[in-house]
Amino acid sequence: KIIEGEKLRKKLHNTILELKGNIRVFCRVRPLLADDAAAEAKVISYPTSTEFLGRSIDLMQSGQKHSFTFDKVFMPDASQQEVFVEISQLVQSALDGYKVCIFAYGQTGSGKTHTMMGRPGNPEQKGLIPRSLEQIFETRQSLKSQGWKYEMQVSMLEIYNETIRDLLSTNRSCSDVSRTENGVAGKQYAIKHDANGHTHVSDLTVVDVRSTREVSFLLDQAAQSRSVGKTQMNEQSSRSHFVFTLRISGVNESTEQQVQGVLNLIDLAGSERLSKSGSTGDRLKETQAINKSLSSLSDVIFALAKKEDHVPFRNSKLTYLLQPCLGGDSKTLMFVNISPDPSSLGESLCSLRFAARVNACEIGIPRRQTNMRPSDSRLSYG
Ligand code: ADP
Ligand code: MG
Repeated sequence: KIIEGEKLRKKLHNTILELKGNIRVFCRVRPLLADDAAAEAKVISYPTSTEFLGRSIDLMQSGQKHSFTFDKVFMPDASQQEVFVEISQLVQSALDGYKVCIFAYGQTGSGKTHTMMGRPGNPEQKGLIPRSLEQIFETRQSLKSQGWKYEMQVSMLEIYNETIRDLLSTNRSCSDVSRTENGVAGKQYAIKHDANGHTHVSDLTVVDVRSTREVSFLLDQAAQSRSVGKTQMNEQSSRSHFVFTLRISGVNESTEQQVQGVLNLIDLAGSERLSKSGSTGDRLKETQAINKSLSSLSDVIFALAKKEDHVPFRNSKLTYLLQPCLGGDSKTLMFVNISPDPSSLGESLCSLRFAARVNACEIGIPRRQTNMRPSDSRLSYG
């Protein structure tokens, strides 16, 4: 009975999502850290009125209250598992043939990387990327009995100053994977979309994966590759977008039905506004690149929502790369990460205002594609 009830709840939840449109916003407030300003100066509260319970957040600034409502608000004590439970259906839909994008947006230090990757070496603190992969590989196994056979490919890249960096290009020690040519010099990383809506980035390493273990290996490799960049390029990781992509193609051997899904998990560059007057040289260039790509992302989202004829996908590498996965039948979720530190109040308010505008958007007309795997099987999951 409990299982039936749970299934019903999930079904209802899915229906609500389909009615609402396919962009959602979750807000997550990280806990206060030792380095943060005094904990007693509490500026964030969570209204307990039943109507918006778990969905609203209030910020106090100079005696003025700013209230926001999202699809979900995670308080500082929310565990990684609690957060994952809320996105597991969305992750699952990539196996059904949907194109899914999950973004983490927020200022540096607000918990984006914690949400996406988590803390390596601590299973409780694993983030959404490793948890999503575990679920996908488990489900793949259980769908075998229904005749489904899946192939999966991973790529990981970083966009820094409008330049793509392949995070899997250097390591050659993983022998059981197929990959494109290694090396960095002279690589173009040109983005192309084919007629089927698939994205190809020339020279980018794409690795066939068959297990969570293989992906963990690649994630470690990418993390290493990122941290090298960090020392070389002045905290590059917070000034660049990290894009994890899992391509999924499935075929049902008895019905011959085919599905092509994509799961993009994106840790965006810090959204903080650096004072333009104070930054010069490389710093200024970085700031301009980040501002450009984050504002391009919002321009694209708002243009899609307004159903404008021209959607400015080409204005930044990030939006052009993700073009087939934004709008249309795709599903988008944005985490807005917030720091509870009173000294971050101004940035938090900016992030929440931006997220509230995104939350008000409805992109595309959700409709069921004919080439989707029947969704009843996914109800057993999540
Ligand atoms: P960002 O990627 O947005 O710059 P991080 O994810 O690196 O921020 O988080 C900044 C710090 O806060 C890190 O030390 C991280 O471990 C910690 N942190 C963030 N979110 C949480 C959380 N939900 N629980 C515990 N620690 C967190
Ligand atoms: Mg980070």
